[in-house]
Amino acid sequence: MSVMSRVLHRAGAPQLPIAVRGDGCYVIDKEGKRYLDGSGGAVVSCLGHSHPRIREAIHQQVDRLAYTHASMFSTEPMEELASLLVGEASGELAKAYFVSGGSEATEAALMISRHFWAVQGGAHKRWFISRKSSYHGFTTGSLGVSGAPYRRQHYECILPPANLISRCFPYRDRPEGESLEMYGQRMADELETKIIDLGPENVVAFIAETVVGASLGAVAAPPGYFKRIRSICDRHDVLLILDEVLCGCGRTGTSYAFQQEQVRPDLVTIGKGLAAGYQPIGAVLIGHRVAQALAAGASALRHGFTYSGHATACAAALAVQQTLREEDLLPAVRRKGALLENILRQRLGARPHVGDIRGRGLLWGVELVQDRDSKEPFAPVYRLHERVQKAALRRGLLCYPMQGALDGYRGDHIQIAPPYIVSEEQIEDLARILEESIIDAVGQVHPGGRE
Ligand code: PLP
Repeated sequence: MSVMSRVLHRAGAPQLPIAVRGDGCYVIDKEGKRYLDGSGGAVVSCLGHSHPRIREAIHQQVDRLAYTHASMFSTEPMEELASLLVGEASGELAKAYFVSGGSEATEAALMISRHFWAVQGGAHKRWFISRKSSYHGFTTGSLGVSGAPYRRQHYECILPPANLISRCFPYRDRPEGESLEMYGQRMADELETKIIDLGPENVVAFIAETVVGASLGAVAAPPGYFKRIRSICDRHDVLLILDEVLCGCGRTGTSYAFQQEQVRPDLVTIGKGLAAGYQPIGAVLIGHRVAQALAAGASALRHGFTYSGHATACAAALAVQQTLREEDLLPAVRRKGALLENILRQRLGARPHVGDIRGRGLLWGVELVQDRDSKEPFAPVYRLHERVQKAALRRGLLCYPMQGALDGYRGDHIQIAPPYIVSEEQIEDLARILEESIIDAVGQVHPGGRE
């Protein structure tokens, strides 16, 4: 007999299984059912659910010192973690600032960039520019710069006004006949128009995901897009914040996704893959110009959360980041990502209701449509993305569904982001179960019955 839950669960999650254990790429529920984690939860668990080295690092840190306040002490794991994260990209990055998750990282990046201008003669600078369909977090500030209407819906009246330019989404928005590069340049140029409209003296920063995650489903920018964005920011003295909460920490095959774009961001946010879900942690990685300005004295950073730089979270993140590097998992992401892409294309590429398969590294999105030629989505009332998720769950696969890629409300896509330790056999299982689940879900709503 089911007992009424006293937990306020989020929408779309009415009857959840109780998870009790992790075993590599599997989560196991109370009934003993095993779920292959095809999405790392919400693109988090990049080392699976039972990595011995991470467990050990957490145990050891808790036994020594679980927590101390960052205004009173630094700690060895925090110092080592900062050196590792920054040292690897020391041309671009100078400092790391630790928080407890992705939304806090966005929030801190907004504050740090405003603080930068406050001490650098940019007293009037107060606007942020971001993109339509973007998601940067669920706190007021981070949702304020997010352009995803569905998430903003009930909170619009308490959010700071958003200054949005178009998203860069070739599958849906690139006109026929325009090259990918030209489309990317045109989309980037919208930033310049927006900066001029607002007045460059009023603009703090532009924020964008280097590879768009959940809100559009693994959309990488066209070649040259971010280079153009960088040059526009430089021309108007506007900071560039890249949100790599979802796509950073090796997910796309390099430590940071921006390393594949040949740009130098002023601030980078990371989160999900940082401690791979073993502890809650996020970070803002800060470039040289901003770090120098906020280094000391009257201009030193005035910001902090109680759990900033939590010792146990830093110890877990340090162990995760060392493991990624020492076990050569970034080349593995590139190799396994190529395999996953092939298998997804083979299985799903010709399906009548699969409109697009896109991604990079081990981050993939499958967009479902009613009609492949017109790209017309299924009616939102069908909640096709959730049907696919439920069909997959019944078959023992976890995937990450989302709605709204067309206009914030319409369009269904499924995000695939398995742990970096996924085996070839598990990739095959994942794609097979996903295919079966899509056929099942489409069969439930399509007038013609099954595909
Ligand atoms: N930024 C991006 C790109 C995200 O995908 C997310 C979460 O999905 C966030 C920020 C917010 O992170 P968190 O949920 O850890 O607060």
